[in-house]
Amino acid sequence: MRSWSAPDVPSLPQLAESLRLYDTPNAATLPTTSDDGLASLYVCGITPYDATHLGHANTYVQFDLLVRYWRAAGLQVNYVQNVTDIDDPLLERAEATGVDWRELAEEQTELFRQDMDALDVIPPTSYIGAVEMIPEVVEDVERLADLGIAYQVETDDAAGADYYFDIAAAESRSDWRLGSVGGYDRPTMEELFPERGGDPQRSGKRDPLDPLLWRARRAGEPYWDGAGLGEGRPGWHIECSVIARRRLPAPFTVQGGGSDLRFPHHEFSAAHATAADQVPLAQRYMHTGMVGLQGEKMSKSQGNLVLISRLRERGEDPQAMRTLLLSNHWRSDWSYTDADLSRAAERLTAWKQALAAAPQAQHDDAAAVDADAPEELQRALMAALADNLDAPAALDQLDQWAAGNLAATTSTKRVAEVVQALLGLDLTS
Ligand SMILES: [Zn+2]
Repeated sequence: MRSWSAPDVPSLPQLAESLRLYDTPNAATLPTTSDDGLASLYVCGITPYDATHLGHANTYVQFDLLVRYWRAAGLQVNYVQNVTDIDDPLLERAEATGVDWRELAEEQTELFRQDMDALDVIPPTSYIGAVEMIPEVVEDVERLADLGIAYQVETDDAAGADYYFDIAAAESRSDWRLGSVGGYDRPTMEELFPERGGDPQRSGKRDPLDPLLWRARRAGEPYWDGAGLGEGRPGWHIECSVIARRRLPAPFTVQGGGSDLRFPHHEFSAAHATAADQVPLAQRYMHTGMVGLQGEKMSKSQGNLVLISRLRERGEDPQAMRTLLLSNHWRSDWSYTDADLSRAAERLTAWKQALAAAPQAQHDDAAAVDADAPEELQRALMAALADNLDAPAALDQLDQWAAGNLAATTSTKRVAEVVQALLGLDLTS
């Protein structure tokens, strides 16, 4: 699927820092290595019906920071993101608003592209809709069934059977254990499962937490040829598991998404992969914090979503939005206020003014700058980012630079390139 246009990312003198990232399964900040100069990332994409609220934007901007860090460290990045362009919430919204689900998905995906473009988020290497990967999903569900890890549940409203993932069979056949990825205990998972699309009450399941792999064709619902599975459509977790494994090495470097994906989504995407291939899905699992509004949880049911497109229509600067997002640590839960957005805009202006006000010699030296000599600011920003992608600390370093507290700048051009490459902020406009 088409993604969006790539922002300009200046190349910087290479600096080696050892990156440490907080990993959900280990509940610890750990060294994260990349083999052969390659780093691979899968970040779960949107279900296109409420694009793009500030919580989405936070996730993709924070992972954009990781992509930028890896690139500055000289790594080649393979980044895959999906679009869940077929799933219950999309169909429910289409039904409720009387719009064809395909039109809703396309319109919302396009809005998402425009918002990512405005926020200067580097597009993924591969941007893939679930609908594009259905034959591969069918293949993998059939394989899980052959291995005895998927089973049929009879339906009374469809011609064929639904397929479910057998947690107990997967545990006996692989190193994966329920809770080993999301880090939750069973009572917590039982509480979260129905809130996040699970169907614990469905009769005929072996374990109430077993997740859906393939939903047989129902009257009025979209469906695809499922070969031996019969007509139907894919479950949510198998979609990401299949896309990630078809496009990235196993295990890939980082699996990312919002903290609401810890369970069931990332738990079972990983379980499907590990049970089928006997290899973990990813080396590290990173979960971004949730963004609220004026102290309330932001959610579609509350009707208090802050949409990037609305802020843009109101004339807010996407670069100020980006500054606001980066002034919060990726793991933190926080709450949006207009006042904080104004403060972020002021901070951005102060950095631009500091750059413009630099002594004439620093502007003049732009052409003569040593291509291999990193600015002190680059060292400071990369050190902050290497320590669990600490964007607030990186922005503090930018404040220090603007206040003249870092080693002397040699070239304003290089400083602008450093800030643009690492943080995606343009101080020259
Ligand atoms: Zn996903």
